Amino acid sequence: MGKGTPSFGKRAGKVVHIRCRRCGRRAYNVKKKRCAACGYGATTTVRRYSWQTRKLNRGRLV
Ligand SMILES: [Zn+2]
Repeated sequence: MGKGTPSFGKRAGKVVHIRCRRCGRRAYNVKKKRCAACGYGATTTVRRYSWQTRKLNRGRLV
């Protein structure tokens, strides 16, 4: 089993992403220790692109 769709069943009941300290989105990966939305933990600059629709906002989107 790889890391594709069938393996996602193994993630049930586990916390993958928690609230990010920098962008406030629930996108901080606990295992990888980085935020999928803003790159917190991986980059010092905030990861953002023009094509991304969801804004990085603080205190919302739990
Ligand atoms: Zn973040």
